[in-house]
Amino acid sequence: MKVAVIGAGWAGCAAAVEATQLGHSVTLLDSARVAGGRARRVESSVNGQPLALDNGQHILIGAYTETLRLMQTLGVDPGSSLLRLPLRLQFPGGEGLAFPRSTVFAAWPGGPRWPAALQAAWGIARASGWAWGDKASLLKLALRWRAGGFVCAPGLSVAALCADLSPRAMRELVEPLCVSALNTPAERACAQVFLRVMQDALFSQSGGADLLLPRTDLSALLPDAALAWLAARGPAPRLGVRVQALTRSATGWQLSASGSADADDSEENFDAVLLACPPQEAARLATGTMADWAAQAAGLQHEPIATVYARLASPPAHANSLPQPMLALRSDAEAPAQFVFDRGQLGGPEGLLAFVVSASVGDKALLSAQVLAQGQAQLGLQLELVQTIVEKRATFACTPGLLRPPAQIAPGLLACGDYVAGPYPATLEGAVRSGLQAARLLKA
Ligand SMILES: Cc1cc2nc3c(=O)[nH]c(=O)nc-3n(C[C@H](O)[C@H](O)[C@H](O)COP(=O)(O)OP(=O)(O)OC[C@H]3O[C@@H](n4cnc5c(N)ncnc54)[C@H](O)[C@@H]3O)c2cc1C
Repeated sequence: MKVAVIGAGWAGCAAAVEATQLGHSVTLLDSARVAGGRARRVESSVNGQPLALDNGQHILIGAYTETLRLMQTLGVDPGSSLLRLPLRLQFPGGEGLAFPRSTVFAAWPGGPRWPAALQAAWGIARASGWAWGDKASLLKLALRWRAGGFVCAPGLSVAALCADLSPRAMRELVEPLCVSALNTPAERACAQVFLRVMQDALFSQSGGADLLLPRTDLSALLPDAALAWLAARGPAPRLGVRVQALTRSATGWQLSASGSADADDSEENFDAVLLACPPQEAARLATGTMADWAAQAAGLQHEPIATVYARLASPPAHANSLPQPMLALRSDAEAPAQFVFDRGQLGGPEGLLAFVVSASVGDKALLSAQVLAQGQAQLGLQLELVQTIVEKRATFACTPGLLRPPAQIAPGLLACGDYVAGPYPATLEGAVRSGLQAARLLKA
């Protein structure tokens, strides 16, 4: 089949590669000039020197099996482009959770590995600054989740699911995990999706909870390689081309697209189309065809994420600005960042930090000032602002009982993306899995 994939985010890249592997002739289009969508490179500069940032600091985890497999297919080595660390949610003073490495003896490659649940239990038992009551309440709850098969009532929130947890375990583990995985505060977040993430990360394969921190910019991590892979096997992907309209034709679907360089609209017929653009744009393109599907996609609520890039006012005395590549921060309304990353330890310039404010609210200038003050107060660092990037529609709000639109829209018209119905929250892995699924549905 001649297939168009609209959107070169991580879902669209996965869909285009999979559909090509299934023997289709695939054209991938994106309105942006850089591939990657909500996980992409952003060109910036400091003192006139070019600087590659990301639209938002991202974390992958060991349980992202399909994303890691796709990277390998595309010739990207996860071992060198991602820094693998055991799960750590430690605060600047060293308190918090640190899991042991998933390999018992690092010197024994492929040697015995920690079973995931044992790794989690060990990390909880040794959590620094926690009383035995905090640890016991968490272990008890985790055992209850396991005994219940990681299933709960569909309308339950994460806060209600964890009502029996000690306040410290809630504050220092569940709340940061929930906001980083679901980008939705625990009181409003869907407990069933949270349980699925916990099951995959903590109770499935060994190392599932490991943190995988990008050492390259996000476009280089997968989308650029996907475009090169596709160009070598079929029609060249087209960047800077916006699909304006989609209409049913006698043999399939007609796309009207316009490129920013070439103002004339072009029209082309395809046997099948995969909408890999965000839900509001997919809804616009699908409106004439499937009003119900479009209404469901357009009705999703969204949560923002802000990333504040800052650098040390004076060069660091030693190579590392932070004691580890990523630290949890104590956050509240005036100190809004939940995490900070040392980009100098992740392939970026020394002294560059990325502060993440999930589900961020308020004015950008105020947010930037608050984060710089938080860095000074909690890290003891004098910082200068480099750039603040706010993604207003970073993810859909993952609320209890939410019904997400299905992949199938109409014959020969499918949707993929992090928001499409599935067990995962809005994540790279959710996007990749959805792309693979949509490509496989083309056969039906
Ligand atoms: C700041 C931030 C931080 C995040 N942190 C994490 C994290 O730590 N870990 C994690 O797993 N996930 C994280 N996420 C979520 C993750 O980035 C998304 O789930 C994922 O990138 C979504 O991919 P997608 O392909 O579904 O959609 P998108 O990335 O939105 O891709 C859609 C593409 O469609 C294109 N497009 C739109 N309209 C048209 C049109 N008419 N014609 C042609 N092209 C069009 C867009 O340009 C875009 O490239 C984060 C997201 C943000 C924004």
